[in-house]
This record gives sequence, C-alpha cells and structure tokens, in this order.
Amino acid sequence: MPIPDAGANPVNSPSNDVSWARLQDEKDELADRHDLFQIPQGLIYLDGNSLGALPKSVIQTLQHTLDKEWGEDLIQSWNKNSWMDLPRIVGEKIAKLMGAAPGQVICTDSTSVNLFKLLAASLQMNPGRTEILSQDDNFPTDLYMAQGLAKLVTAQRLTLKTVPAPQLASSISKATCALMLTHVNFRTGELHDIPAVTRLAHEKGALVIWDLSHSTGVLPIQLDADHVDMAVGCGYKYLNGGPGAPAYLYVRTALQQKAEQPLSGWMGHARPFEFSPHYESATGMLRYMSGTPQILSLKALDAALGVYDGLDMAVVRQKSVALTTYFVSLINKLQEECAQAMGLKVISPRDTRRCGSQVSLTHEYGYAIVQALIDRGVIGDFREPDVLRFGFTPLYTRFVDVYQCVEILREVLVECTYLEPRYNQRKAVT
Ligand SMILES: *Cc1c(COP(=O)(O)O)cnc(C)c1O
Repeated sequence: MPIPDAGANPVNSPSNDVSWARLQDEKDELADRHDLFQIPQGLIYLDGNSLGALPKSVIQTLQHTLDKEWGEDLIQSWNKNSWMDLPRIVGEKIAKLMGAAPGQVICTDSTSVNLFKLLAASLQMNPGRTEILSQDDNFPTDLYMAQGLAKLVTAQRLTLKTVPAPQLASSISKATCALMLTHVNFRTGELHDIPAVTRLAHEKGALVIWDLSHSTGVLPIQLDADHVDMAVGCGYKYLNGGPGAPAYLYVRTALQQKAEQPLSGWMGHARPFEFSPHYESATGMLRYMSGTPQILSLKALDAALGVYDGLDMAVVRQKSVALTTYFVSLINKLQEECAQAMGLKVISPRDTRRCGSQVSLTHEYGYAIVQALIDRGVIGDFREPDVLRFGFTPLYTRFVDVYQCVEILREVLVECTYLEPRYNQRKAVT
C-alpha cells in the first residue's frame, strides 16, 4: 500500500488503514486521559476547539458546590469556601499552561470583555499612538471590541487598522499603539510565531496583545520567555470549562502598575468592602476584575483543569501534530481514490507543524456536509463561507476517531447525501 503524501511534514508517515490507527492508540502516552471525559458512546467529537468535552470531575465538583457551598454555607462561602479567591486560583492554574510565572493571570469575564480592558490599557501606556493593528481575518469579536473602543475614545483619535497577515510586519509603525493578534487563525488554523512577531512589535515601540483562545491547553506557550505584554483567551475550548466558561487575561508583571483598565467595577477596587464612593484600583491582577466572579462557572473550569495535571505540553503538541498529519494524509488519499472528493480542499497549512490543533477544508456544500456528518455521529463545525473545521483534542481524540471520521466523510461524498434539503437549512449556531 502506498504511503500517502503528507506534504513536507516528516513527523510520521501513517498508512491509511485502521490497524495503523489502532496501533497509535495503543502506544499513545495520553490514552488514559480519554476516560477523564464524558463522551457519548459512539460519538466522534471533533469540535473541542469550539466547546471542550465534559470532564467527569466537573460533575462532582458542581454537585458539591450546589449542595454544600451554595445550598448550606450560602453567603459564608465567599470566605469559607474561598469563592472570592477563585479568579486568582483558576488564573494561576491556567498560567502554568502558558509559561507564566505567578501573579500575572486572572480568570474572569469573557474574552471579548477582557480584550476591551487590555486594549484600553494599551492606549494609556502608549499615549499619542493612534492605531490598533490587527489582521483582516482575525476572529471577529476581537475586531469588534477594538472598533467599539475606537468609537468611544473620540477625544483621542484611535483607529483599528487591519491588513492581510503577510503585511503585518511591514505595517507596524510609530503610530501602532498595540498589535492585537490571535495565535491560531480560527478559519485556517495557521499559527503566528509569537516570539518573532512580539520582537518586531517591540522594536517599533508597540505593545502586543495575543489572543490564545485556540492555543492554551493544546500548544506549548511561553508568555514570560517570549516577553509578551498581554494576552487573553477562552475557558470553554481546549480548557473544557463548559459553555460560557470565564475567560482569562495575562498582564506582564512589569506593566501591571501602569496598565489600568476602564471597566472599574468594585471587584477591581483595592478595598471593595469599604464601599468607598471613589475608585482606587487594586494592585496586581485583581485590578483587571470588574464585577462579581461567576462562581459556578469558575468551579467547573477549576475542576476541568485537573485533566492537565502532570502533563507535558510538548507531549500534547506532539500528539496534536500526529493527529492533524494523519487526518490530512487520509484526506489526500480520499481525494486520490474518489472522484466525488474532488471538490474538497485543505486550506490549513500542509505542514501541520505550522498549524494549531485543527484542520480546515472547504467545499461548495460545506455546511450540508457538516450537517450530514453530525447526523452520522461525527461532530465538526462549519464557518462561513464554505469552511469545514475539524478540531483534534489530544486528551480525548483517538487515531481511530480520525480514521472513522474520514470513512464517514467518504460515505457522505460518494452517496451525495449532502444534497438532501434537510442538510441545507441553516441553523442559528453553526
Ligand atoms: C472563541 C474565541 C473568542 C471568544 O470570545 P468570548 O467573548 O469569550 O465569547 C474570542 N477570540 C477568539 C480568537 C476565539 O477563538
């Protein structure tokens, strides 16, 4: 059997029969993590990059929080059960996954809101600069928040400038207040080089804000070593914190004194329970809090992070690259063997080392194909205009899942199932 072409990636040369997949699963160092998750029998879940699967520990933790803490201890829990300290406790757990020393990460609010805080802080730290620079195809909420801030600060001219990714480096200028980028492109999965881009921005005096929503928990990140200024990210994707889980933000220690944020709610006050009419920001990361922490969600995320205990992120990344490489090689094979697969295109970098833990394909009937796959127990997702996204979570995705996903995709393509009208009606969430 010929070995499928997996581009220039030398990571491995998978054969495309199921026995190869089974062998990889047997050898997999992370195999025991699979059982930490509750995944319905028979379901192939390739959407952990949108909503991570449910870690079993979350169920017990939430039950305990409801019964004992909220149910019995009630308001005393803020002290007695450390509710007040949860944003910091959970933040420190996330910090470990991002190469951040203690005291630089807090877990609160949503990624969008945290971005707003940090963009505003960057304006203060870089006065006189009038531009937030980003890339055209950054995740929309990141761009929307920058647009909102620009509209608000009319006294100080501020614009959001976006350019295609290849023009980013040459677009950083003396006007750039902050460079705001997402590490993993949400459509294509393509990676930015965090240390190289950060260095370039610093040479021009710009601050850098990285969005790590598709990175933390699946890629090795070194925020301190790479001299990153600020970062945000999402709690419900690879961190498995559950729908609407709180997000996190990172501010390098050296900047914290200077970087105040405008959503100055009482939880960011130096002494919230003095109930003073005047705002005085807390020192350290607490100043990036606004309102009351989301305790149930924080408890869920806190428990969920246990699945990373004792894990080396380099091992996680290695498996992630092996999974994406295998998927791309199976898609290549499918295209060679099956005329009906001609319309599929891989838009992620062929060298999967340049890619996050997802592979994206395009097809004219992308939406309907994703719906047909979901109906057959394979969950990926669709992004406008024609992108089929498959996310691979090394902690629970198995090589046999990848194999079966492509076999079922073959069936859907060969039988043209995607032409059925029921698969062509758009739902609110894709
Ligand atoms: C998922 C995601 C978000 C989510 O933002 P929320 O405000 O938490 O809903 C933001 N940015 C990127 C790049 C994302 O992938």
